[in-house]
Amino acid sequence: MFQLFLPLNFLGFVYRELKASMANIERMFELLDEQSAVKDEGTAAFNLKGGEVTFRQVSFSYRDDYQVLDQLDLTIPAGKTLAVVGGSGAGKSTLTRLLFRFYDPAAGEILIDGQPIDQLPQAVLRASLGMVPQDTVLFNDTLKNNLLYARPDASDEELQQVITMAHLDSLVQRHTDGWHIVVGERGLKLSGGEKQRIAIARMLLKRPAIMLFDEATSSLDSHTERGIMDAIRQVSKGHTTLIIAHRLSTVVDADEIAVMDGGRIVERGSHVRLLSQQGRYAALWQAQQHQHQHQHQQQPDSGDV
Ligand code: ADP
Ligand code: MG
Repeated sequence: MFQLFLPLNFLGFVYRELKASMANIERMFELLDEQSAVKDEGTAAFNLKGGEVTFRQVSFSYRDDYQVLDQLDLTIPAGKTLAVVGGSGAGKSTLTRLLFRFYDPAAGEILIDGQPIDQLPQAVLRASLGMVPQDTVLFNDTLKNNLLYARPDASDEELQQVITMAHLDSLVQRHTDGWHIVVGERGLKLSGGEKQRIAIARMLLKRPAIMLFDEATSSLDSHTERGIMDAIRQVSKGHTTLIIAHRLSTVVDADEIAVMDGGRIVERGSHVRLLSQQGRYAALWQAQQHQHQHQHQQQPDSGDV
């Protein structure tokens, strides 16, 4: 039923989504195993070992007049968690788009376990990657089917497990239909935080070798965010993980933090080490601490946005 039902529902949805927002690539991208602008000519048998990700001298621009990545070098060691921070527009999300091969770099290469990703079939590449985007889009379908999209053969026990881990229990319990509640455009209107938690639950179900979180907790209040970060830490253990974060409080525990600026990585190290360097990261940290205190004085933490 699920298999048959989804595509029909899905096409209408995709069409409407396209009309509504031609610009938002991540949305489409998350939903479809979409043929993108790049060529799927990969033939190499993919030998996934630990899932080490390497950007080697990668340059990229969307437009001729503006270089987003400039000979960027970045490695995420297999099974480790790397956080990438930096100002808005620094190119953080671009890293994930290139990794999924939504675009190919103008120069340099991206490798997984030493294999250039443009030599891998797209389906194989994307099966090894999972992503929680900034802005999650749900199918106009039940919560259950929205989760099963990540892994159609998941059992009810597994579904329940990820629902709990992603702090969705209260949402499910609030509605008599439980996880059969219809969400998405014509269903229940969910808050940004709830949608993000569903995306996180999908990731928890899929458990790909390489996990990408792009400001995945940006719509959550700080209490829920802590809970979700715990869940993310738990499931990402042993998986190569890239966490793109705006709120630095969420990256403190990463194995390493990389600061992006001017299309490159300008600093890299643990939270403690970067603070002691008193460079870019330390300045960002101080600015956010200050801002946080200020917000607390202005208004106490509200619930989900
Ligand atoms: P970040 O995630 O760090 O905020 P992005 O990687 O999304 O930054 O974007 C980096 C730069 O590229 C920004 O200046 C942004 O405006 C630009 N950009 C992003 N997507 C596109 C696009 N599809 N077309 C043109 N420019 C884009
Ligand atoms: Mg971004």
